[in-house]
Amino acid sequence: MIVRCRRSLRHSKCRVSSERVTTAFEKLQQALRKLPGVGYRSSERIALHLLVGKPEQLPTLIAALEVASAKIKRCSRCGNLSEGPLCPICMDPKRDGRSVCVVENVSDLVAIERSGSWRCGYHVLHGKLSPLHGVGPEDLNISSLLERVRSGEVDELVLALSNDVEGEATCHYLQEHLTAGKKIRVTRIGFGIPSGGGVLYADSVTLKSALDGRRDFN
Ligand SMILES: [Zn+2]
Repeated sequence: MIVRCRRSLRHSKCRVSSERVTTAFEKLQQALRKLPGVGYRSSERIALHLLVGKPEQLPTLIAALEVASAKIKRCSRCGNLSEGPLCPICMDPKRDGRSVCVVENVSDLVAIERSGSWRCGYHVLHGKLSPLHGVGPEDLNISSLLERVRSGEVDELVLALSNDVEGEATCHYLQEHLTAGKKIRVTRIGFGIPSGGGVLYADSVTLKSALDGRRDFN
C-alpha cells in the first residue's frame, strides 16, 4: 500500500528518488516506462498524478484497462481491433470490401480512417518483414490475407506499407506469394510519403494524395 509522506511529497527531504520511493511505486514506474513515448520523468509524473494528484481517476483507469484487455481481440478477417469475430469496418455494409488497403499496424489504419480518404477494406499485418530482427512471414498476419485472396473476395490490394527497405521487401513478398496467377490488381501508395517514413506520420492531405495516386506495383 502506498501512503503519502506526512510532510509532503514536494518536501526536499521527501522528493521522489530511487532511494525514497516505495517498491510498489518503483514497479509502477517501471511498468509505465515500457509504454511507448514514456521516459523516466514522464513515468514519475504519471504515477504521481494517479496516486497523489488525481487518485479518484485510478479506479476508472483500472476498470477500462480490464474491460479492454478482456474484450478487445483481433478481427478474424482483417486483423483490426474487434470486440467480436469481425471488426466494425468489416461489418460495415457501405464499404467496398473488394479493395483492401494493407497496412503494418492498427495505428496506420486509424491514421487513414482519420484522414477520411479510404472507404473500403483493410488488412493489418501487425508488422513488416525484418530478417535482421527475426521477423518472418509466419510472424505476420499474412495467412489470413492469403485466404482472402484465394477465396476471390479481393479485387485490389493497396500496399500502404512504409517507404523503407523492410516495407519494400514486405511488398515484394506479398506480390510474389499472394497474387501469383490471380486476377488481382496490386498497387502501392507512395506519392508524398517521405522516404523512410510511414503512414502514421503523414498528414491527412498527404495520405489522401498517396491513396488517390497509388500506382501499379510490380
Ligand atoms: Zn475487420
